Amino acid sequence: MKAARLFTYDKPLKLVDVETPRLKNPADVIVRVTGAGVCHTDLHIVEGVWKEKVQVSLPYTLGHENAGIVEEVGSAVTSFKKGEKVILHPVITDGLCRACRIGEDMHCENLVFPGITADGGFAQFIRTSDRSLVRLNELEPADVAPLADAGLTAIRAVKKAASRTTSGSNVVVLGVGGLGHIALQLLRCMTNASITAADVVESKLRLAEKMGAHRVIDARRDPVKQVMEITKNQGAEVVIDLVGNDQTLANGVKMLRKGGSLIIVGYGGTANLKAIDMIFSEFSVLGSLVGNWDELHELIELTRQGKVRVITRKGKLDEVNDMLDQLKKGTLEGRGVVIP
Ligand SMILES: [Zn+2]
Repeated sequence: MKAARLFTYDKPLKLVDVETPRLKNPADVIVRVTGAGVCHTDLHIVEGVWKEKVQVSLPYTLGHENAGIVEEVGSAVTSFKKGEKVILHPVITDGLCRACRIGEDMHCENLVFPGITADGGFAQFIRTSDRSLVRLNELEPADVAPLADAGLTAIRAVKKAASRTTSGSNVVVLGVGGLGHIALQLLRCMTNASITAADVVESKLRLAEKMGAHRVIDARRDPVKQVMEITKNQGAEVVIDLVGNDQTLANGVKMLRKGGSLIIVGYGGTANLKAIDMIFSEFSVLGSLVGNWDELHELIELTRQGKVRVITRKGKLDEVNDMLDQLKKGTLEGRGVVIP
């Protein structure tokens, strides 16, 4: 089968022929990938940011936002059969550790992360397990593949935001990319907050308006001051930082009102927190990591109800490097999806 693989850090992925994955364990499922989202994390992997974080040897196949059609199931799989449309929760879990038993898949002690620690979905087939699958029914895999990671990460962060807001609270979303445009729709259906979106690209601000932001601010022009004006100098109850660079993290803290929460989702930068400010203003800082199976299940249900729509730009597998380039330049609108 064809796969787009990383052979050398800082070099484009190579489209090569590799062996098709086979069932290894009784709970394994082989999925024919018919949609794989292209994510900022793929860029970080290519750049070697993850080199020290995960033990993986090159070459391997990237792609961790996968959806498709069940091709083959292991002997212990009773809940899915060949031909069903599915989306893959991004990690394969053991189901037995304490984290799994309380439903926190991302904290599984024996987690495998296809596309990050094992072969992923920029390929015609992928191996996963029955525990990771969510049924799509009438939804098309290529239309929803980015929900497996971008959308899932957005819903977990928005649920954290929702629990910290009440009607009329101010929520600021920093960054309107693949995650941001989904986060805005979710904020509209899960909160009654007043939503402000910030970005540095004009077209993304227009996208934010379409996706549910009540107002947008151009982050090139003193975003902290603009948020303070909007909130009558009180600051926002919640800031969701989907960018996570030094600048957005510093701005995010300055935008909070007393008792406010900064939810960090994007990464790359370092937050500098003055203890005295944290205490005097009772700020909370929360990290948010992807999401669990149930959050993916809920997101698929919201999509089925028409409350969430992913903006995709679809292409063939050999367009993946092109999409990664555009993502790097910030010119890719919505989410790139390759159809292997
Ligand atoms: Zn586990």
